[in-house]
Amino acid sequence: MNNKKVVLITGAGRGIGAATAKLFAKQGYAVCINYKSNAEAANRLAFEITSNGGKCITVQADVSLEPDVLRLFSTIDQELGCLNVLVNNAGVLKQQSRLEDMTAERINAILINNVTSYFLCCRESVKRMSTRHGGDGGVIVNVSSGAARSGSPNEYIDYAASKGAIDTLTKGLSLEVAAEGIRVNCVRPGLIHTEMHADGGEPDRVSRLESIIPLQRGGEPSEVAEAIYWLASDKSSFSTGNYLDLAGGL
Ligand code: NAP
Repeated sequence: MNNKKVVLITGAGRGIGAATAKLFAKQGYAVCINYKSNAEAANRLAFEITSNGGKCITVQADVSLEPDVLRLFSTIDQELGCLNVLVNNAGVLKQQSRLEDMTAERINAILINNVTSYFLCCRESVKRMSTRHGGDGGVIVNVSSGAARSGSPNEYIDYAASKGAIDTLTKGLSLEVAAEGIRVNCVRPGLIHTEMHADGGEPDRVSRLESIIPLQRGGEPSEVAEAIYWLASDKSSFSTGNYLDLAGGL
């Protein structure tokens, strides 16, 4: 069986998740790369990691669906062993819109993908990590967003509210499992150069808004990955229930 520490990164085929997978693999973790639909990107990333001597597996699973989450975690149990770190990263946003144009279908899709998925993956991780269930402890890092603070008016209040829920999940769960060997924190990235903004209908959104960012530029996925790795490492051993903003001063 695998003798490395094990990390699950949801939505790791591209963007922030892919940068995080590369960093954990470089630091000696066995990485589970979860993806929903883009198998090509996940397989390319896995090839890069294994070519550099790292260990990883790819698992297709829609983490908004309970049966898929159960299959994802049992695959990790069987193929990698004891889970040490969960990075809840998979997320979606929809076309920029004012609230009065949002349908229930859209709002529910955002909440299921961005909130239910995080709860389900936290649940399965706690069952495995908690000393209450015979586990050795572990770390959970949730990827929230600066949108939880700004509210994203005129763009996607639904997405922003879903990230607000992740901040609350982080706080509540961190307190619930603090005495059971599990630390739970979150990162709140600001404007990061990834393909996500194209899904909102504006691929160049980060460049358009650079001038309002105090550091005068958008962030890179690797800069978010470094913060996630720090929160997962023993270097942040006294930190739980905290939010780390990575937004260039915004
Ligand atoms: P991205 O490039 O669009 O990547 C999103 C990833 O999530 C994709 O790999 C996608 O998988 C996966 N995914 C989406 N829904 C999924 C589901 N139900 N099950 C499994 N995987 C799913 O986005 P990103 O910018 O890297 O965003 C990563 C996280 O950072 C998200 O939580 C996002 O909200 C947060 N964030 C991003 C920014 C930013 O400016 N980019 C700012 C703040 C916070 P497939 O490719 O296989 O479909």
